[in-house]
Amino acid sequence: LVRMQFLQILSRKLGSLEMLFQIPFCQKQFPYTCLSTSARVYSKKKKGNSYEQVDQEKYKNLVHSVTSYKTSAQTPETILEEDNLLYGPPAKHRPPIKAGTKTPKNWVPLINPSKRILPVSSDSNVPMQIGLQRTKMPSVTRILQQTLSPQQVFYLERWKQKMIEEIGKEGFEEYTKNLFLQGELFHSALESIFLSEEMAARDQGEDDVVAGYLSSVEHVLEDISEVKALESGVHHKTLQYVGLVDCVAKYRGQLCVIDWKTSEKPKPFLQNTYDNPLQVAAYIGAINHDANYDFQVRCGLIVVAYKDGSPAHPHFMDPDLCSQYWNKWLLRLEEYMDKN
Ligand code: MN
Repeated sequence: LVRMQFLQILSRKLGSLEMLFQIPFCQKQFPYTCLSTSARVYSKKKKGNSYEQVDQEKYKNLVHSVTSYKTSAQTPETILEEDNLLYGPPAKHRPPIKAGTKTPKNWVPLINPSKRILPVSSDSNVPMQIGLQRTKMPSVTRILQQTLSPQQVFYLERWKQKMIEEIGKEGFEEYTKNLFLQGELFHSALESIFLSEEMAARDQGEDDVVAGYLSSVEHVLEDISEVKALESGVHHKTLQYVGLVDCVAKYRGQLCVIDWKTSEKPKPFLQNTYDNPLQVAAYIGAINHDANYDFQVRCGLIVVAYKDGSPAHPHFMDPDLCSQYWNKWLLRLEEYMDKN
């Protein structure tokens, strides 16, 4: 934990310089150690040392945080090892969300004030499945992917390098391909369950993997009722983005946008799910501003299912939490629109 805090402090201080971490850690520390221990020796020389030109006040805290930490055992290897422990291969690190001081320039409410809800909403038992129209509008996942913070990119890249070191480039490609395929199979298996369809015949091998994920979510499915939409396209009319929602249904009596996630590592807290809460908030906002849907959604649910069949973690997002993530989403969307 101490080292994690250290890394957080350090990466915060380094800001955009954090990419330098890719230089083996021991080399990176060296100049800073020099600065604190040898500055006095060099200061008497006429020429002075180049560090004098450094903004001392600005870097004092950084230097202090680096030099005061007991780093003797810190080699790149132990950092990577600990990375694996802390973040794990499939569980990519998500930096804590900074206390939101920024506000979106163009603020649109999560709930659509002008959407009229019919007193008796369509009581059809058949879930809606709106096709995703071909469009030039960006998708939620694309927007999130293109606006990752330098820190997120850094951790992702380091995780990838670590994996490639372990299983090779081809092994890594195979691994990610399989992860993707398993996710797809799991999603379509759930879709079949909600449509009360017979499971399509599949390869036995693939079935086994999906079976693990399915038994993982079994206890969550018991709390889900009134499925209103499944694998359905959504379009935010005002903000001009699209997405494909896994499921809209009631969870313990509250209407939610539900997103299924597959994971090989435990994600017991919402904070472990990276940008998933932003994704869910983005879908909620889109549904509320999409005329295809004659209802509004205020809550979200992220269900993290495990391959080994251990009980899935359902992360419920109440209306207040959804609004908080909605604001974070609007900032990311703004960033994307500025770039493109
Ligand atoms: Mn999903």
